[in-house]
Amino acid sequence: MSITPQPGIMDIALYVGGQSKLEGHSSPLKLSSNENPYGPSRHAVAALEGSAATLHLYPPTDHADLRAAIAEIHGLDAERIICGAGSDEVLQFLAQCYAGPGDEVIHTEHGFAMYPILARAAGATPVEVRERDRVVDTDAILAACTERTRLIYLTNPGNPTGTMIPVEAVARLADAIPDHVILVLDGAYVEFAEGYDGGAKLVESRNNVVMTRTFSKIHGLGGLRIGWGYGPREIIDVLNRVRQPFNLSNSQLAAAEAAIRDTGFTEHCRSENARLRVWLRDKLLDLGIACDESQANYVLARFADEEEAAGCDAALRAEGILVRRVGGYGFPEALRITVGDEAGCARVIDAIARFKGAA
Ligand code: PMP
Repeated sequence: MSITPQPGIMDIALYVGGQSKLEGHSSPLKLSSNENPYGPSRHAVAALEGSAATLHLYPPTDHADLRAAIAEIHGLDAERIICGAGSDEVLQFLAQCYAGPGDEVIHTEHGFAMYPILARAAGATPVEVRERDRVVDTDAILAACTERTRLIYLTNPGNPTGTMIPVEAVARLADAIPDHVILVLDGAYVEFAEGYDGGAKLVESRNNVVMTRTFSKIHGLGGLRIGWGYGPREIIDVLNRVRQPFNLSNSQLAAAEAAIRDTGFTEHCRSENARLRVWLRDKLLDLGIACDESQANYVLARFADEEEAAGCDAALRAEGILVRRVGGYGFPEALRITVGDEAGCARVIDAIARFKGAA
């Protein structure tokens, strides 16, 4: 007897996350995973500690309090929200419920590495669509839709590019795609973008759009694994059928609710990030390193070639700084640098300047 996995599973390349350890440096400056340099809200930490009293109790299965808090803060309908162990889990529910063998799942050239993984894990075929000058090309996506397409995964603002797909282009795409296709707007970095609702209005006015969001970035809870999705009632009802009843713990629920209610902290993180990402980009440009305007909490620093990017990465590591090589995302010549706090931004720029011989 030979034990074999389902077709397609062995085509999945393992996801490689940002490194957190660096030999010779006990606490490296980690600018490789778009984490919050200010940590979590202190109210979230207090709620997490308080949740220890309920460790022996199963958590609620409906996440009613957290959904109510999300709905209140964002002005949404709680009945149309689903919570998951990271937004990854909500993205997975979508592939699991709507894509299977023979179906196609569209993602874009520089899109999040999990999209083709989720498609293959569901038995479907991922279809990659080219971007244009590091911005998602919604016309090319429409042209790639077939009668087999079930899902389109889009990140806005993009990762690792930080660029925005114009809101009007996304709305036009939602209107133009065939009836059997769901447009998934992955909003992991929405809170950092100027005046963008993550697609909430599109979700409210269309029956084929789902938005996903996370507590991992602006709320600084990446280590706790909490995300959510917002969509048409019919779709949320479908997703809830595959969701494990206890997919979020009492601790996750308590911390997330406190985090989302701490709007002062959220605003502090947003405004500091907005200020420092402009500073970081300007300094990179001054050093002769190409960098698009970013609407996220990272910038994509594009060097002359792969060799220079690798050299800079090595120089940063030698100084105890971790950034992200993004060759796997189609940018071998680039480094993605998370916008740190003021000291972190200054430190990485000083190190890059030394590498460029400008310091
Ligand atoms: N989407 C994008 C574009 C991301 O960069 C990430 C985090 N790497 C996620 C989704 C998943 O985030 P989480 O599961 O932590 O909510």
